[in-house]
Amino acid sequence: MDTKVNLNVKCPKCGKSLMDHKQLTLGMPSILLNIKFDDVSGQIRLCSVYGCYEHTGNVKIPNEKIVKFYCPHCDALLNTDIKCKTCDAPIVKFNIEIGGIVSICSRMGCTNHYVMFENLHDVIRKFHDEYGI
Ligand SMILES: [Zn+2]
Ligand SMILES: [Zn+2]
Repeated sequence: MDTKVNLNVKCPKCGKSLMDHKQLTLGMPSILLNIKFDDVSGQIRLCSVYGCYEHTGNVKIPNEKIVKFYCPHCDALLNTDIKCKTCDAPIVKFNIEIGGIVSICSRMGCTNHYVMFENLHDVIRKFHDEYGI
């Protein structure tokens, strides 16, 4: 059976949900964020399914570009001082609504881009509790 784990994330600063339930990616709610790079600003939607690398946006991001991610509610910069182990770009962090943290690399096309759990075992246990999967 193909169980898709759908991550609901929120802003670590203001605590508001970053989920967009109106526009779906692969039938799941997307994670909507404001982004900036160079003098370009726009929006990006990340697929909220764990392990999925799909994303859409209203601006074209060049491959390997380091992007700044902002909360669409409070405008907090979500890039941290933590560096990606693969490419040294800043890591971006979100809080998972039921607990745990998702970190993604801010560099487009980096293999560390998109969802990673800091404490996978703990999060999977919480998913079991929450959804019984
Ligand atoms: Zn916020
Ligand atoms: Zn990276």
